[in-house]
Amino acid sequence: MPDCLFCKIVHREIPADIVCESEHALAFRDISPVAPTHVLVIPKKHIATANDISPEDKDVIGELYLLAQKVIEIEGLISSGHRLVMNVGAGGGQSVFHIHLHVIGGRSLSWPPG
Ligand code: 5GP
Ligand code: ZN
Repeated sequence: MPDCLFCKIVHREIPADIVCESEHALAFRDISPVAPTHVLVIPKKHIATANDISPEDKDVIGELYLLAQKVIEIEGLISSGHRLVMNVGAGGGQSVFHIHLHVIGGRSLSWPPG
């Protein structure tokens, strides 16, 4: 197993505020939230960046979006709108190299991002 922060959260080796999970995905609150709701949705399988997703991962990637939908329901964000973002690579703002969807909502969101 790679020495990876989010793999450690998956294996409950470090604590996280878990919102919900499915067979192959886990959702937990970001430690430095940028909005009232800021949840990270990750695959339980280690995939370093979006560029490392392979055809065999297609079901897992679908599951990420389904679990994000559940987070959105739990957080009451269906009608207000929200943002799903995946940063890719250091230049794209990625700081943890285990893919994650940011589920951000609970305030108005501007575009384009910085
Ligand atoms: P990235 O910059 O890779 O797109 O997003 C990584 C996110 O992980 C950041 O928003 C950061 O606040 C969050 N994060 C970093 N370390 C931890 C941690 O130990 N626990 C949790 N819950 N979130 C973390
Ligand atoms: Zn990992």
